[in-house]
Amino acid sequence: MDVNGFSDLDLSHHVLKDLEYHGLEKPLPIQDQAIPLLLSGKDLIAEAKTGSGKTLAFAIPIIEKIDCERRDVQALIVTPTRELANQVAGEIKKVGYKKGVRTAAFYGGKSVGGNVQILKKGIHVVVGTPGRLMDLIDRRVLRLDRVNMLVIDEADRMLDMGFIDDIRKIISHVPRERQTMLFSATIPERIRALAGSVMNNPEVISVSSEDLTVKEIDQCYYEIPQKQKLDAFIRIVKNEQPSSAIIFCNTKRWTDTLNNLMNKRGFRCNALHGDLSQNQRDRVMEDFRKKKFTFLVATDVAARGLDIDDVSHIFNYDIPKDPDSYVHRIGRTARAGKRGKAISLISSSEIRSLWDIESRCRTSIQQVQL
Ligand code: ADP
Ligand code: MG
Repeated sequence: MDVNGFSDLDLSHHVLKDLEYHGLEKPLPIQDQAIPLLLSGKDLIAEAKTGSGKTLAFAIPIIEKIDCERRDVQALIVTPTRELANQVAGEIKKVGYKKGVRTAAFYGGKSVGGNVQILKKGIHVVVGTPGRLMDLIDRRVLRLDRVNMLVIDEADRMLDMGFIDDIRKIISHVPRERQTMLFSATIPERIRALAGSVMNNPEVISVSSEDLTVKEIDQCYYEIPQKQKLDAFIRIVKNEQPSSAIIFCNTKRWTDTLNNLMNKRGFRCNALHGDLSQNQRDRVMEDFRKKKFTFLVATDVAARGLDIDDVSHIFNYDIPKDPDSYVHRIGRTARAGKRGKAISLISSSEIRSLWDIESRCRTSIQQVQL
């Protein structure tokens, strides 16, 4: 079927109105493929590149299927980070506004009492991080026995070692009679196999084809001895003059240190990592979205799923050890068809990781000289 606009998909008047209100006219390819499948009730594993519109691909069918007459939780969406939970809940609120879908994001660092108050209003869609969801389930304030739609966003991350036990526990509280959806830009084979055990004969969509990274991202690297990285980095940043950039570091400690060093040198920047208070994290994200400062120095807490308008540059001050992290980090730029630049600083001990990335992404990253 050749779909032109959202109105060619079988969507309700309210949802079409909200989409139109937010300037969303044509479904992106993953939405075009996933929405009809999900409306028909199928389980789905969907792999589509960073920034390709996966959120609405699951959000629209969920909104369509919510019964607003009821007061119980009908859809559960699990995300790896607090920031992503907020963002996904925000998208659902936008497109489910006219229909009256009530959505909430629950994650650590906020009071459980507040979550309880919100749940009393009769929430239809819960978006949350595993730790807090487990907590709310254990306290018996979050009941999932009426949930019939379950989404695991950034599925490979969530089904990987660190989270898998929590996810299994959460799933055990959701009725078997449900629709299960897995989304990510990278879904390795071993994760697909694992996913099969929590799904019912899933359809698989893979829009990612050969290369994993988005072609609108201009990627390059500099080879720099570790001791000279800071000076080299400052020079590169001055050359590039990003309008908005995320700088990824591998440790919380270096994230703080680099943030301080850059502040001293007059750059407008802030740090984001898991040791900050939730209020600090929220404020930093809000200010970064509003372009109140230019450089966000972050750990991988900012690597997954975040959709921030017009991030022009991604810097890997350290290269991630896991090649898929690289794909997600650089995917914070060049979203929804825009362009962006990804620059990595590689010391001699990191060359091996670079090769791993190039082979996993089936791309060659161009070396440039300072
Ligand atoms: P992904 O989860 O695939 O990384 P997102 O769902 O975060 O991507 O979407 C990326 C960006 O694309 C968001 O800014 C979103 O508002 C925008 N977007 C989504 N669907 C459409 C559409 N149909 N038309 C235009 N922009 C869209
Ligand atoms: Mg996403």
